[in-house]
Amino acid sequence: RLEIRNIHRYFDGRAVVDDVSLQIQAGQVTCLLGPSGCGKSTTLRMIAGVEMQDSGEIYVDGKLICDTMFRVPPERREIGLMFQDFALFPHLSVADNVAFGLKGSKDEKRLRVEELLQKVSLTRFIDDYPHQLSGGEQQRVALARALAPRPRIMLMDEPFSGLDNRLRDGIRDETLTLLKEEDTAVLLVTHEPEEAMRMADEIALMRGGKIVQQGAPYNVYTRPSDKASVAFFSDIN
Ligand code: ATP
Ligand code: MG
Repeated sequence: RLEIRNIHRYFDGRAVVDDVSLQIQAGQVTCLLGPSGCGKSTTLRMIAGVEMQDSGEIYVDGKLICDTMFRVPPERREIGLMFQDFALFPHLSVADNVAFGLKGSKDEKRLRVEELLQKVSLTRFIDDYPHQLSGGEQQRVALARALAPRPRIMLMDEPFSGLDNRLRDGIRDETLTLLKEEDTAVLLVTHEPEEAMRMADEIALMRGGKIVQQGAPYNVYTRPSDKASVAFFSDIN
C-alpha cells in the first residue's frame, strides 16, 4: 500500500503539485487523470524517488520512505516503473531484459523470466532481441520486466499512448489481468478519461496541481464536482 501526504512541488515559485494526498491499495488500479500540464508526471516522479518534493511525506505499507529530511533511494523503494518512452535495452535479449532487475541464482531468474513471458504470451520470443518484436510485443516485455522483481507498487505514466489503437485495448486488458494476479498496487497516469474509465478501480481527478475529486469511476464520471470536470469528461464517447 502506498500513501502520499500533502505533497508540494514548486517550479519558479509556482506550485506545480499543490498539496496532493493519495492512498493506493494492493490489487487495485488508481488512475491519476487530468489534462496536460496538471502535474501528473511530476507527482509520479516524486513517488519513484527520481525527483524530490518540497514538502510532504511518502509511505509504503505504513513505513516512511521519503520526507524532506529522509529519503530511501529509488532502487530500494520496491517500486516498478513503466513509462511510454521507457525503452527496452536493445542489446539484450528478451530474456535478459526481463531478468535485468532480478537477484538470485541463474536458475531462479530463468524460472521467473519464463513464468512472466508465459503470462504475456511471449515465450516464443525469449531469445529474440527487441527490434525483432512489434511495438505491442515490446510493451508486453516492458511490463514483464517491470513486474519481474515483484514490486509492491507499479507506477505507469501513459504506458499505452505509443500504441496503435487496434492493439491498445487488448494490451490494456492483458496488463490489468497480470497486475491483479501479481497483487500489485498500481498508480496509472493518463490524460484520457476513456482509459481511466476502462482501467481504474479508483479515479483521482487532477487539475492545476490539485486533486479535485476522487472516487469510483462511475461516480466521478456521473457526478463531476464542478464545471471544469464536466468539460474535461465531455471528451469521452
Ligand atoms: P502531460 O499530460 O502533458 O504529461 P503532466 O500532468 O504530466 O502533463 P507535468 O509533467 O507534471 O504535467 O508538469 C506540470 C507542470 O510543471 C508543467 O507546467 C511543467 O511545465 C512544469 N514542470 C515540470 N517539470 C519542470 C521542471 N523541471 N522545471 C520547471 N517546470 C517544470
Ligand atoms: Mg506527463
